[in-house]
Amino acid sequence: MADSTWSPSSWTSKPVAQGVEYPDEQKLQRVLSKINTLPPLVTPSEIERLRYQLGRVQNNEAFLLHAGDCAESFDACTHENISSKIGLILSFSLIVVWGARLPVVRIGRIAGQYAKPRSSSTETINGKTVTSFRGDNVNGLDPDDRTPDPDRLLRAYFHSSTTLNYLRGLLSSGFASLHHPRDWSFNHVRSPSLRKEFEHIVEGLSDALDFSRTIGIESMPPYEQGGAREAVGEVDFYTSHEGLMLDYEQALTREFPLPPSLATKDKKKGYYNAGAHFLWIGDRTRQLTGAHVEYFRGIRNPIGIKVGPSMVKDELVRLLDIVNPDKESGRVTLITRYGATKIDDHLAGHIQTVQDSGHPVIWICDPMHGNTLTSSTGLKTRNFGTIISELTSCLRIHAECNSRLGGVSLEFTGELNDEGFSVTECLGGSMELSEEQLGLRYQSFCDPRLNFEQSLDVAFLISNHFKN
Ligand code: PEP
Ligand code: MN
Repeated sequence: MADSTWSPSSWTSKPVAQGVEYPDEQKLQRVLSKINTLPPLVTPSEIERLRYQLGRVQNNEAFLLHAGDCAESFDACTHENISSKIGLILSFSLIVVWGARLPVVRIGRIAGQYAKPRSSSTETINGKTVTSFRGDNVNGLDPDDRTPDPDRLLRAYFHSSTTLNYLRGLLSSGFASLHHPRDWSFNHVRSPSLRKEFEHIVEGLSDALDFSRTIGIESMPPYEQGGAREAVGEVDFYTSHEGLMLDYEQALTREFPLPPSLATKDKKKGYYNAGAHFLWIGDRTRQLTGAHVEYFRGIRNPIGIKVGPSMVKDELVRLLDIVNPDKESGRVTLITRYGATKIDDHLAGHIQTVQDSGHPVIWICDPMHGNTLTSSTGLKTRNFGTIISELTSCLRIHAECNSRLGGVSLEFTGELNDEGFSVTECLGGSMELSEEQLGLRYQSFCDPRLNFEQSLDVAFLISNHFKN
């Protein structure tokens, strides 16, 4: 937990990677003061509950699914998009629950995933050099709207809260209930074998739930200690985003009393980021002496750290020492993203070093970010086969190192167009999407996402792996 040298603003004395220059500093401060007075989006008890559940992932008692868009946009904040995203996350997790016989902890890249780090601060569009698009909470996708505007941070808060409001509504009105998986719009899946496999699971699950209802529901542990939300068959859902815009994160950082089980005589309160349950540090902002690491070390939320090929072994342990000095369970998730051709050179060494350090971590595989390429038609894409290759290497290497893969981090979407067709952003999968088909329904304005069918292909692979 944070020492006395930490405060929600102590990051401001450190170098800020990926910082944004606002032309009107006073306006920025006005907006941040406003955000600081607005209500929290999530509560400490939900955050502590997620930490508890991540502790279970760490102990091999649950599987973590972290998934959603690369970046959300304000325009895509619609009823259809939110419910199809949740529907895909639920369908995916159901397949894993059924095959692996493990509970799934679901964290969406949702309700705040607006900011994007960029490899260059400018880009050239139609021969004109403009400031890079940094996400809807900073500037506009339109090349004429690239000046950072603080009002966008406020709009991000309200779009997050409206997304979360609908999400909570869906969860409390039965959409996410495992008793009604047929509501999760599966009809559009054209592959008969995928559909059949899924229907088989749904039938088995309905029988199992009927049975558990018949024999009566066991009494539940308290909410923060993992007791089910309402009853057997209900699911939890958590939100996350990259903690990139530290001004915004600071404005949503609040001090709350610690739950009685965690409070001590000397420490009765803690700082929580009330903008999301889980935040992660990106691969471009994880410098040991930088502002992001400084901010992250002081919050109670469970955090993720992206680990790519450039992470030096010793640096990884020093990072863990900074963000988790007391080696608390459920606090840190390492999200590895090396690329299919590089994972063999790095993962085993990273696992070994972390094991030697005695740091408790959850390892999850992001097989997306090290495997991005440009198609012959100029579209940013990823190949399904390469994604699977990194994932299977990851499973193998963990097994070889006497470790365990605790989950996956994916960019996917259940979005459908008016005719019920999925997006076409990644190549391959059981639907064998070709380069020529990429342009058909390419919707992402950021990284390419797996579509519904391709995502379920991944779910079945994981489910079958853990079944055996
Ligand atoms: C992302 O998760 O969208 C991202 C930018 O990842 P990374 O920091 O690993 O490149
Ligand atoms: Mn991305």
